[in-house]
Amino acid sequence: MSSPVNPVVVDDNRPATPPVAVVPAGQSGHGRTAFVRRQPARIVDGRCEGGYTDLFELICPGCGDRPYLDYSEVAPRLQWLRGPRPLEAALAVYHKHIGQA
Ligand SMILES: [Zn+2]
Repeated sequence: MSSPVNPVVVDDNRPATPPVAVVPAGQSGHGRTAFVRRQPARIVDGRCEGGYTDLFELICPGCGDRPYLDYSEVAPRLQWLRGPRPLEAALAVYHKHIGQA
């Protein structure tokens, strides 16, 4: 925890967040908050550890997912939503999810 403080804050007062697009708390609708990111190898205490895999996952806060949770910590339906998938497939699911298929 000796690294510089990350100024980006998600909801729940959790200061640690992966380097991805962060949506301010209070917004609603998964279409506006969902995003695709490279899958972290592992997330511990909200931090990515071990680098990233070659796959991508869809994170949808509107569906109850939280970017700081490890894959093993989210519900099965969110795991399905995350994938992970190759980039093209992840983007296809993303566009479908937000209604732009
Ligand atoms: Zn959603």
